[in-house]
Amino acid sequence: MVGGAERETMPGPGMARNGRPRIVLLGPPGAGKGTQAELLAGQLGVPAISTGDMLRQAVSSDTELGRRVQGIMAAGELVDDATMADVVKDRLARADARQGFLLDGYPRTLPQAHTLEGILTGAGRELDAVLLVEVPEEELVRRVVLRGRGDDDREEVVRERFRVYREKTEPLIGYYRERGLLYPIDGNLPVDKVTSQMLIALGVNG
Ligand code: ADP
Repeated sequence: MVGGAERETMPGPGMARNGRPRIVLLGPPGAGKGTQAELLAGQLGVPAISTGDMLRQAVSSDTELGRRVQGIMAAGELVDDATMADVVKDRLARADARQGFLLDGYPRTLPQAHTLEGILTGAGRELDAVLLVEVPEEELVRRVVLRGRGDDDREEVVRERFRVYREKTEPLIGYYRERGLLYPIDGNLPVDKVTSQMLIALGVNG
């Protein structure tokens, strides 16, 4: 397993206390975070915020940001933390994210996790849960190659994205586990089963 973590059985981070939840989806490329983000966000009534989609949008609209990040994304590398901090601060400041959100693709580094914590603390808020989507590595490679989205799904780029995930993003698993926020989810199941596990972990429909 990439991002292997022991199963946690205690469900329900008790989000009812402050309205809609603030959730981070964590997991390797190809784990199905984007699909789950849309489904789960719909169920929870919060916006799904995908930094990957935001950056791809910037690239296709040929904005200044898009021109800056295009080559980095195509190579499977991470956009720098300062740029991402601007992107995420702006997005979370919008009205629809005030009452909760589901972040997909952010944070991806420890400095980004600190940035997120700072943004939330500054607004008197905190994260409710981090859902770690776990899928065996062979299945991940198969999925990402099949997806064939473009430059960032070429085989050597896929390999680089996994390497970057292990080096930069996996440390977030321990970071959030220590804070009692981590909920491991088996991502190697049919889409609807993955969603229902997430809802159970969150104590919704549980
Ligand atoms: P995935 O296919 O793993 O879901 P994403 O769509 O989340 O990938 O992201 C695609 C690319 O966008 C990443 O490989 C990276 O170059 C860039 N990116 C997205 N989010 C971030 C982030 N939080 N920090 C740095 N780069 C990011």
